[in-house]
Amino acid sequence: MAECIFCKIAEKKIPAQIELEDDDFVVFKDINPQAPVHYLLIPKKHMQDITELQDEKLAGRLLMGCVAAAQKLGLFTHGFRLVVNTKNHGGQTVYHLHFHILGGRHMGWPPG
Ligand code: 5GP
Ligand code: ZN
Repeated sequence: MAECIFCKIAEKKIPAQIELEDDDFVVFKDINPQAPVHYLLIPKKHMQDITELQDEKLAGRLLMGCVAAAQKLGLFTHGFRLVVNTKNHGGQTVYHLHFHILGGRHMGWPPG
């Protein structure tokens, strides 16, 4: 998608601090971190949000990618949170599917 900022990050057309990458996804640091550790995992293939994720194999790879990223980021000891904001009520602002990987502090519940 020509005007999608996360597609541009996946294509390396705009810079990002990439932590992990494979054929299906890229993990990079959030530009406006909400926790001491805050990364985003995106599929390289553009889809607007998780409601468009129809491919079970890809879904598994993305989820396992989040866990692999959490391990690489040192989040296994104390834990972490995965968040997928979806559409308006979910608080989504960038319409390219992304998983937030948040850690480094205790997270409250319920979320705001
Ligand atoms: P959402 O609100 O859609 O769930 O989350 C979008 C996230 O993308 C936000 O946490 C925001 O800080 C992050 N973000 C938006 N634009 C950029 C960018 O250009 N680079 C990076 N690294 N993160 C971005
Ligand atoms: Zn995109």
